[in-house]
Amino acid sequence: MPADSSRPLGAPELGAEQSNLARVFARQKAAFAAAPAPDKAERVRRLDALAGAMEKNEQRIIKAINDDFGNRSGVETILAELIMTASAIKQAKHNLSRWMRPRNVPTPLKLAPGKSRLEPQPLGVIGIIAPWNYPFQLALSPAATALAAGNRVMIKPSELTPHLSALMAEIIREAFPEDVLAVIVGGVDVGQAFAATPFDHLLFTGSTGVGQRVAEAAAKNLTPVTLELGGKSPVIVDQGADIASAARSIAHGKTFNAGQTCIAPDYVLAPKGQTEAIAEAVASATRKLYPEIDTTSDYTSIISDRHFARLKSMVEEARDAGAKIIEVGSSNALHPQRKIPLTIVIEPPANTRMMQEEIFGPVLPVLSVASADAAIEHVNKGERPLALYWFGKDNAARDKVLTRTISGGVTVNDTLWHFAQENLPFGGVGKSGMGAYHGDKGFETFSHMKPVFYQSRFSSGAMLHPPYTEKTSKLLNLIRKIA
Ligand code: NAD
Repeated sequence: MPADSSRPLGAPELGAEQSNLARVFARQKAAFAAAPAPDKAERVRRLDALAGAMEKNEQRIIKAINDDFGNRSGVETILAELIMTASAIKQAKHNLSRWMRPRNVPTPLKLAPGKSRLEPQPLGVIGIIAPWNYPFQLALSPAATALAAGNRVMIKPSELTPHLSALMAEIIREAFPEDVLAVIVGGVDVGQAFAATPFDHLLFTGSTGVGQRVAEAAAKNLTPVTLELGGKSPVIVDQGADIASAARSIAHGKTFNAGQTCIAPDYVLAPKGQTEAIAEAVASATRKLYPEIDTTSDYTSIISDRHFARLKSMVEEARDAGAKIIEVGSSNALHPQRKIPLTIVIEPPANTRMMQEEIFGPVLPVLSVASADAAIEHVNKGERPLALYWFGKDNAARDKVLTRTISGGVTVNDTLWHFAQENLPFGGVGKSGMGAYHGDKGFETFSHMKPVFYQSRFSSGAMLHPPYTEKTSKLLNLIRKIA
């Protein structure tokens, strides 16, 4: 379906897809109202159905994503889509009893002997808008947690992954009644209608610009949002870091999915005098990862001609501005598969697009900074990043960076891995996002953690009712002392 960005937000024409969206939403709302508190056994059945659908269709999922990208490394799909989603499901099942249990909260003396609890409750119908870069995992891993929390879920995948989106719609339709889990396929106009739907919670994963529009549309319904956005995630290499080891991690983080990863290292800040050595070490590590970059299926393609052209023109702009470029592998004959070899750009000027925008591809600026403080200052001049990576051995220097910079998450002495630690909440801060999911935090994101106060039969509260007398004043004085 062609995108119609001229259609105002919140007022989509009711095309076939939008009316399907409205119909499924109404069905899910009604189904939730009829059965608002699925028990543990029901939630486990839903998680098992998701795991089963995934397992049964693994090869088709790998193929569909490969067809969407031109070439998507099968190992990357297994690791980042299938294993990550399976882990989210497994984790939800493993923790479900604990997650569903009410949490006791201490009750202050003045309210004793009453009792206080947080009682998790499903929110209702959850909307999930997913991007193209990990199209399966970023749709179904939050969906698994939302189902574990007892909700109904609707997913709007990206129009840039038509094969995977169609397949996901098919396998979810086979495994679930549409009033439990449904996939709504469509373009930007369906995305707009989706964001304007009065979900009980909306999780959006995508770019900061679109995230802002989604938040505006959701605000019209006061739908709470979790925004999983992007940004420029820096790598700080400290003086004294093991350069070869840092370079291997940076090369891997930047070339996994050809750099089309929200938490890919965006650029490197190198200690003065070590810029060339670090760039060379990253180049050499990358050659070891992909000795035959032209032909290997290990190296993923760029998702579309538009994204390919955008990355190429970023590099040309930096070259024209005088930056030194190291292309790690030949770009001959790569275009048919839209592969771009890792391209290291030394000292691109601050006003080039690659230093202004999220790169989201295998292009790696390396800049030198005069000191550890200058690195911190550089990071803090920009928007708050989604991820930050620090390499070094000096714990005091590390802690200074951790204390003085604010980023969504951090991996120390490697890249990407904090995302895979599913017991850590994952999310951005500032322009890189709001809210988080994964693990306990994910369950709470998709639940209403309802505070409940259980009054005791022996409550002293009634003594505070009017008419107010001398006794009330005495009681107030006592409460002041113990409060
Ligand atoms: P995008 O913002 O272009 O699109 C994301 C989704 O939003 C797609 O499904 C798209 O169809 C839909 N959409 C587009 N316009 C819309 C609108 N006006 N209203 C509602 N929905 C709309 O992002 P993308 O290009 O698919 O993904 C790349 C971006 O996502 C990068 O910035 C990357 O950093 C970010 N990202 C973030 C995370 C994270 O977890 N924080 C993960 C992956 C990607």
